[in-house]
Amino acid sequence: MTSAEILIVEDEPAIQELLSFNVMRAGFRAVCVGDADSAWEQIHSHAPNLILLDWMLPGISGVALAKQLRADARTRGIPIIMLTARSEERDKVLGLESGADDYITKPFSPRELMARIRAVLRRHVPQMPDETVAAGGLELSPASHRATAKGRAVELGPTEFRLLHFFMTHAERVYSRTQLLDHVWGSQVFVEERTVDVHIRRLRVALEPFGMDGLIQTVRGSGYRFSVS
Ligand code: CA
Repeated sequence: MTSAEILIVEDEPAIQELLSFNVMRAGFRAVCVGDADSAWEQIHSHAPNLILLDWMLPGISGVALAKQLRADARTRGIPIIMLTARSEERDKVLGLESGADDYITKPFSPRELMARIRAVLRRHVPQMPDETVAAGGLELSPASHRATAKGRAVELGPTEFRLLHFFMTHAERVYSRTQLLDHVWGSQVFVEERTVDVHIRRLRVALEPFGMDGLIQTVRGSGYRFSVS
């Protein structure tokens, strides 16, 4: 089972702990940092699926960090939910103008927070509807982020999951690396073409124990194809 990774940027230990507890209980993975500099570093070494960003941070504020992330092509596509103690309408507008996708005011109910997280994640994955897809003995359920091969669980990272989902819903056709980047990573995200090869390799390694790595075929000079025939 794979799940979305959520980066929690919050300087107050008690709130950080509360957030990570609820995020993990909802089935997501949580990574915590306490300031904008650490967040920037973390995001650039490993992009999360969503950022929970506290407005008031020591040093660079959450609003300033959100603006920086939106200005950088590599991080522009990562959804952000801003957390704040402020509840004035003016601040809400400012938060959303800085590039946040949603906004939640402290104190919040864990239930509301989780609903917001799920809604934002759904909005950002338009090409992955909730319906389970099946092909060649593989089954993927985007709603639960679960993948199985002949009924057994397959461990897939978030990118491999999306990549496999795209292949399974576009079987028997060849896609170039550029096309795969557009469809799977999204046109807003800047990544090098060889990144595709890295994830193809990881996907094959994950499928190998089930004898299914051959489903992902290399088409010399053209790209890759998912084929069950
Ligand atoms: Ca704070």
